[in-house]
Amino acid sequence: MNHFPLFADLKGRPVVVVGAGPVAERKITLLRAADARVTVSARAAHPRVLARAQAGDISLHLGAFDPALLDEAWLVIAATSDRTQNQCVADAATARHLFCNVVDDPELSSAQVPAIVDRSPLTIAISSGGAAPVIARRLRERIESLLDPALGALAGLARRKRPHIRAARPHLRSRRDFYDWLLDGPVLGALRRGRASEAEALLDQALSTATPAPAGKVLLVGAGPGDPGLLTLRGLRALNEADLILADRLVSPAILALARRDAQVIDVGKAPGGPHESTQARIHALMVSHARQGRCVVRLKGGDPMVFGRGGEELQHLKRHGIAYEVVPGITAALACGAYAGIPLTHRDHAQVLTLATAHRQAQDPGPNDGAGASAADGRTGVHYMGVERLPALCDRLLNEGLSPDLPCALVENGSHPEQRALHATLGSVVKAAHRHAIRSPALVIVGEVAALGMDLAWFGKTLRTPSTSDAAPRSQAA
Ligand code: SAH
Repeated sequence: MNHFPLFADLKGRPVVVVGAGPVAERKITLLRAADARVTVSARAAHPRVLARAQAGDISLHLGAFDPALLDEAWLVIAATSDRTQNQCVADAATARHLFCNVVDDPELSSAQVPAIVDRSPLTIAISSGGAAPVIARRLRERIESLLDPALGALAGLARRKRPHIRAARPHLRSRRDFYDWLLDGPVLGALRRGRASEAEALLDQALSTATPAPAGKVLLVGAGPGDPGLLTLRGLRALNEADLILADRLVSPAILALARRDAQVIDVGKAPGGPHESTQARIHALMVSHARQGRCVVRLKGGDPMVFGRGGEELQHLKRHGIAYEVVPGITAALACGAYAGIPLTHRDHAQVLTLATAHRQAQDPGPNDGAGASAADGRTGVHYMGVERLPALCDRLLNEGLSPDLPCALVENGSHPEQRALHATLGSVVKAAHRHAIRSPALVIVGEVAALGMDLAWFGKTLRTPSTSDAAPRSQAA
């Protein structure tokens, strides 16, 4: 972090602005909005600055800049068009250990003024540390359009009512629920319509209704395949409600960084080959005991919680113990890897049936045909989770079931992560190719004609081909 973000209380505090052109005038307007006592020093002043001085809004010193003006100041802004003059102001400020912003000159500045979205008392400040003010301004425009204009009034009302809210909702959880209701409910609507007293009455009425102590619950949340952009909005909200997050090994740090800062995070990851059953028993116990203490527990899983994620077992456990739960789906690896490797899992010309299977179960229990193998031959796609470690056994099995060694097969490693690699081979060549390129977990095996389309449609990460794949191109639509 290049700059430390800070909101300064300038009420009644002297601030010096050097320069009195249109740029300086904009800074003066902002400083006066924060109720700073503004002194302007300039050789000549813009009529609007003159008018402010005449109205007694600021004090104006016409003539050469006198460094002694800074003796009382808390902050200095240099906004002249003369760099030497600005440098002289910056030097005088530095000599007094005063922060100085030189407009549009990060080199001379010891402080930056951010782009702001003003919903006072709510203020959002955006800074690129002087590196790219245009990006900061563009971002400001976007945020401006996202935020309800009545948000400022709502925050003002919440500030006035804060002691009542604290008293009426002593539990943190119920207080958070109340603030959620404030943001999503009728109070904001009333403020938007300009009905301040109606908004206040609605708030008071809601506060006077007693709420029971919050009951704990478990939110089973899918974190998607890794890219935080693929988390759902509901998932993001759950991360911000959480008191405790029980996170899987596959959940990326970038997603955990989106969680509420004071949420406790426990890594309950199961490394491949680790002692699964004891880890699972511990997860069950943690969910139940923390929910019973009234906490909001987020059980965060890679991909989707109900696809090879033991989500079903965890829900059954919660149900048996009478714990309330909700499920937030996530983008499962098959969908993410297909999309990010340019492999359509179904295609009118190539595949009408899609099977998701786990190579895990097949290795331990070769038992009955699950349909993912034999079916891949004819207009079918088989997607195999947890397949890299067991790739030789998986391929042997599929070949034994009668699949052609020429059938296209793709391995997608770290799907949707910046380091994604997609390896294109055939069922007969993939084991060697995976070994040569040292493909590691997490990776997904996609078997079927559609797999070869990824060689043409890839748009993300690295695409690796093997010589055998040149014969594996799918039938073209025109043929
Ligand atoms: N519930 C998860 C699957 C967990 S099983 C989901 O819905 O995606 C773990 C297996 O998922 C891994 O062995 C791998 O085969 C696959 N997987 C998960 N994330 C992946 C990723 N980013 N890229 C490739 N495969 C992934």
